[in-house]
Amino acid sequence: MTDATRNMDFAQTFQIEGLDVRGRLVRLGPSLDRILQAHNYPDAVSKMLAETLTLAVTLASALKYEGIFTLQVQGDGPISLIVADVTSEGAMRGYARFDEDRLIEATQSNGAAVPRLLGTGHLAFTVDQGADMERYQGITELDGATLSDCIHHYFRNSEQLETVIHTASNITTNGATAGSMMVQRMPDQSALSDEDAEDGWRRAVAILSSLTSDELLDENLDHDELLFRLYHEDGVRAYEPIEIEHKCRCSREKVAGTLKSFSRAEIVGEDGKAQVICEFCKADYTFTSSDLDELFKTSE
Ligand SMILES: [Zn+2]
Repeated sequence: MTDATRNMDFAQTFQIEGLDVRGRLVRLGPSLDRILQAHNYPDAVSKMLAETLTLAVTLASALKYEGIFTLQVQGDGPISLIVADVTSEGAMRGYARFDEDRLIEATQSNGAAVPRLLGTGHLAFTVDQGADMERYQGITELDGATLSDCIHHYFRNSEQLETVIHTASNITTNGATAGSMMVQRMPDQSALSDEDAEDGWRRAVAILSSLTSDELLDENLDHDELLFRLYHEDGVRAYEPIEIEHKCRCSREKVAGTLKSFSRAEIVGEDGKAQVICEFCKADYTFTSSDLDELFKTSE
């Protein structure tokens, strides 16, 4: 079977049986490509957004939730904001804000991506499960060369959960792919001795670091085959994958609702129209003068 795209756009949980290690495998293809195409950002921004989306899907897949998981990166560098969110149904979207002049300057200099492009700031995630449900929030400073490093710090310091994530992306004019593999050491439920558990964890991490970016992003390499290739000696159990798609939650109705909370004079342009462009998906919601007559009819 050579249906390459069936190997992309999913998040999968796996368990390495002999090692008390749980993992996540995420591979994004057409869904990521659609997001990046819609924005058409400079390469450095696309790459950072791709990594943020991949990490958002990876972290979300490790949580039990019903609702929206959001990963937000904010800094004082050329890229000031990146937002990526994914619903428990697998609908993913994202955008970035950046300063063009500062970005050109930064891309001409050397150094690690996070300090150079994002600067000093933080990475935060929230889980929104609806109005009366608690929002779980994790936050960590941007102290690492890559966003994955920052996530490692978060898990080590805030969750005391040993975690290693390997990410890769390949963004070309012909399409974009990105992927991640994350392993986590399961705490305190081990039948193994401390020493064996420690050895097992080290082994899982060593094997993960042997994973090449080419393997991770190879659309022709089946994900079960990839997991088997890495962890067959210890026994790997893969769970049913969750499909990921690019889907925005904006709608004309929601935009109309927002517009109605302003006065007509506040939202209308010189041409008598009101235009709202969704920051996530670039959908254009334009309300003509007669649309606005209709919208504001009841309050006049
Ligand atoms: Zn949208």
